[in-house]
Amino acid sequence: MAGLEFFQFPVLSDNYCVLIHSPETGETAAVDAADATTILAAAKEKGWKLTHLLITHHHWDHTDGLAEIKQQTGCTVIGPKYPGKGKDGPVEGVDTTVGDGDTFTFASSTVEVLHTPGHTLDMVNYHFPEEKAVFTGDTLFVLGCGRVFEGDGKMMWESLEKLAALPPETSLYCGHEYTLSNARFAITVDPSNEALKLKLAEIGAKRERGEPTVPGRIGEELETNPFLRPADPAIRKHLGMETAKNWEVFTEIRKRKDNA
Ligand SMILES: [Zn+2]
Repeated sequence: MAGLEFFQFPVLSDNYCVLIHSPETGETAAVDAADATTILAAAKEKGWKLTHLLITHHHWDHTDGLAEIKQQTGCTVIGPKYPGKGKDGPVEGVDTTVGDGDTFTFASSTVEVLHTPGHTLDMVNYHFPEEKAVFTGDTLFVLGCGRVFEGDGKMMWESLEKLAALPPETSLYCGHEYTLSNARFAITVDPSNEALKLKLAEIGAKRERGEPTVPGRIGEELETNPFLRPADPAIRKHLGMETAKNWEVFTEIRKRKDNA
């Protein structure tokens, strides 16, 4: 059995990077490559040698360290096969491109690839079913979702639906610590949600103690994250969108967050 170890640490101002290590094979993957110095130092501190990079999307705060990490470690870079908007091809430096429905093996664990376009067109997420964990990049955040830069609301909603369908016990590792501001917004569109009220208090306390709020859990997101809840009658009523389609309600919530 796999038994992978996960080590999450902050990079740049509010990004997270996670190292995934197999004590069995000695392999170590980093999810995204915001900054080479920080990531290589984290691997060194753990006594792990980077063998893989898993890239979610082309934004600089997920790829800036790619070339240097690859050069220093000789690691294999796995990333989306899709180009971002206005790009000629996949992220430069990717050795193995992957797309929706693909699976590959890291150490002895299966990794399933989900294409979740919207924030960017190239976005892929990595699901580790045996470890019950998903790496969502900037698609799904704890209590929030990424801004829709390259796709449209319908596309983003369909991407979020893929993540919402994962087993509820799945740990949600996302690219940023945005949870507190997400929670403060969430309560404005879903003010009567008791689970959300509790979560807002819990998150505020965690951040005061300087603790991360990531990873979250898919099951909790289904109960508290308004971007996964456009079908909820209370939210629809609050927005005056009782008969709208789910993606239309989602798009309205995203618009309100953009203007918050
Ligand atoms: Zn991004």
